[in-house]
Amino acid sequence: IVCALPVEYNAICLLFDQFWDENGDEYGRATGDHNQYTTGCIGKQDIVVALLPYMGKAQAARAATNLRTSYNALELVLLVGICGVVPHVAGRDILLGDVVISKSVVQYGLGRQYPDTFVRKDTADTNLNQPTRDIRSLLLLLETDRGMDLLEGQTAGYLQELQAKAAKSRRLPKDRYRYPGSDRDRLFEPAYRHRHRTAMSCICRDCGSDSEPVCEEAMRLTCETLGCETSHLVRRAGIEEMRNLETQGGPSGQNPSLVVGSVASGDTVMKSAAHRDRIAAGEDVVAFEMEGAGLWEEVPCVIVKGACDYADCHKSKEWQPFAAATAAAAAKAVLNRFTATDRRDTSPVQAGPGHGSVDCLERSLVEDGRWISRNHVQSIDGDGSARIRVGNDWEKDAFVGGGSENRAGSIKAGGRSVVHIGNRYGGQGQS
Ligand SMILES: [Zn+2]
Ligand SMILES: [Zn+2]
Repeated sequence: IVCALPVEYNAICLLFDQFWDENGDEYGRATGDHNQYTTGCIGKQDIVVALLPYMGKAQAARAATNLRTSYNALELVLLVGICGVVPHVAGRDILLGDVVISKSVVQYGLGRQYPDTFVRKDTADTNLNQPTRDIRSLLLLLETDRGMDLLEGQTAGYLQELQAKAAKSRRLPKDRYRYPGSDRDRLFEPAYRHRHRTAMSCICRDCGSDSEPVCEEAMRLTCETLGCETSHLVRRAGIEEMRNLETQGGPSGQNPSLVVGSVASGDTVMKSAAHRDRIAAGEDVVAFEMEGAGLWEEVPCVIVKGACDYADCHKSKEWQPFAAATAAAAAKAVLNRFTATDRRDTSPVQAGPGHGSVDCLERSLVEDGRWISRNHVQSIDGDGSARIRVGNDWEKDAFVGGGSENRAGSIKAGGRSVVHIGNRYGGQGQS
């Protein structure tokens, strides 16, 4: 998992089931890798989280290269966090807090922005790599109604779990990841600018149209301070629905919808409704963000980002924590559904009472100097005189590029059970 902002990183950490680095980073880093990592598991997946020191494509690409060096058996990288969204796509409203899942990434900014049009430098290299087979099968599931229902249901559950955990923290404000409410979800008409409106001595006075600038100060102030009028808000069916759910009470009023679509990734923050709508129409994208293009070229990647604004001039930070929370919840739901084709899952194992026998031995395979031998067992029950063996089984000589990973979560072995844990080397071991 890669995050670009602390708010994104904090949210995903609340959904870890276990951390492995509480006594220092036991998995280490390759030489020259300066990423900060957090390791642990979410559900039955082993997870490493990297928090980027800066936002943007180049940082993301550099972090991804290092990530791949230190963790050479990466199966999937999720870019989890917040994004700006296109408010209306294919006949439906996307609301703040909804989560966008990428099926492809389009780079924008590789060209020139003229006042009224955007000219692309080269069409061919802007549609980035196609997703891997594992990711394609995951995305295919998301295009089915059942897959989507499952994922949205689980996302809603994990969101509540995250909020409950945050509420118990003594450091965080009680309402840190709270749903701000549908009346705080404001979409202004695309041509309605965020600018000074009264007693103007600044350039806002001359700002009448879409392409004319506003002053620096206005850009920093909130809609409330500037007096952006609610009469210019767009009425949306999606907001009415959320309002109805909220008045009915219960937690379902905050449940995010998931949207699968193309994501626009660029090096500049999208802050213009007109520009947003032009790119959305031309490239068929549903969201804007800044790191996806950097990751997509380096690692097998899916973007999972919560909508925190409408990528227009009225954008604010108010929705960021909640959007980071919905994205983290959706990422955990996505991880539940992800099964890599080359992964052997041996957990949990039940030996049963009596004279049961469990062999959890994973065969080693050394290819191109890279070891591929991982054996994770979550729990083994073996009462009586069970015989339990956990470890990796190396047949060939092991010339080790990394190590042999062998982890057993918990083994219960009562009576006269015999438990062997470790690796068995048939050939010459070296580590
Ligand atoms: Zn002004
Ligand atoms: Zn405004």
